[in-house]
Amino acid sequence: METSILYKIRKKAGKIIENQLLKTGRVLDVRYWESADMIEIDLHLPTADMQSWNQIPYIKLCVDDFTFRDYTPFGWDADIATCSLLIDADHDGPGSRWAKSLRTGDTIHYLKMESTRQAPHPTDFVVGLGDASSLGHLLALQQLTMPKARFDGAVLLPNPNCGKLLSEYFSSPLHILPTASEITEWLLKQGYCTAHTWFYLIGNDHFVSELRRLLKSLGHHNIRVKGFWS
Ligand SMILES: Cc1cc2nc3c(=O)[nH]c(=O)nc-3n(C[C@H](O)[C@H](O)[C@H](O)COP(=O)(O)OP(=O)(O)OC[C@H]3O[C@@H](n4cnc5c(N)ncnc54)[C@H](O)[C@@H]3O)c2cc1C
Repeated sequence: METSILYKIRKKAGKIIENQLLKTGRVLDVRYWESADMIEIDLHLPTADMQSWNQIPYIKLCVDDFTFRDYTPFGWDADIATCSLLIDADHDGPGSRWAKSLRTGDTIHYLKMESTRQAPHPTDFVVGLGDASSLGHLLALQQLTMPKARFDGAVLLPNPNCGKLLSEYFSSPLHILPTASEITEWLLKQGYCTAHTWFYLIGNDHFVSELRRLLKSLGHHNIRVKGFWS
C-alpha cells in the first residue's frame, strides 16, 4: 500500500519534472523493415538547431518514465527541421519496446541533442565500421563527408533481410557483411594508406575494441572509437 502511494507520488513528480525539462518532436513516419528488426523513424524536431550539425549528433530520447536512450539522427534537412533514426530492435529493452510502439503522428520527448564529437576528417579518406545499432551513425558520417568519394566502410549485419533492405533504401558505399570475421577479411584486403586514412568504429563495445586492436596491428593510428552498448 505504502509502496503504491510512494510509486504514484514519484511518477507524478517525475511527470512534472519531465514536462519542464523535455523538448518535443513529432513522428512523421515509421517504417518497420520486414523480418529485419530495424525500425526507421522520421521526425520533425522544430527546436533542434540542425544548421549547426557539423559533427555527428545524438538525441537522448525519453523512452519510458525516467528512462532515456541515445539514438543517432541522420539524413537531416535543416530547412524543414526533419531527420531520421534507425533503431536496432532485435533485443528486449525499454528503447527497443518504445521504438516498436511508435506510430505516425505520435509526440516524442527528448532531454537533449548533443554532439558525439565525431566528425569526418576534412581532407583524408574516411572509413566507417559498425554494427546494426550504428547504421544511423554511419549514414550521418557519410552525409558529413564531402566529397562523397572520400567515404568507404563496412557494416556487420547478420540478418540478410536487413542488409538487403539497407541497400534497397539507401545509396551508400557501405559493404554489408554478415560476420565479424568477414569484416576482418575485408579490412585485410583493402590496403588503406596508413598516413591518410581515418577510421571511425561504432557500435557494440567488444566489437569496436576488437576492430581497434586489428587496425593497430596493421599499423593504423588514425582511429576514432565510440562504444554504444555492451
Ligand atoms: C551516442 C549513442 C548513439 C546511439 N545511436 C543508436 C542508434 O542510432 N540506433 C540504435 O539502435 N542504437 C543506438 N545506440 C545504442 C542504444 O542507445 C543502446 O543499444 C541502448 O542500450 C538500447 O536500449 P534498450 O532499452 O533497447 O536496451 P537496454 O535496456 O539498454 O539493454 C537490454 C539488453 O539488450 C542488450 N542490447 C542493447 N542494445 C543492443 C543491440 N543494439 N543489439 C543487441 N543487444 C543489445 C544490452 O546489452 C542488454 O543486455 C546509441 C548509443 C549511443 C551511446
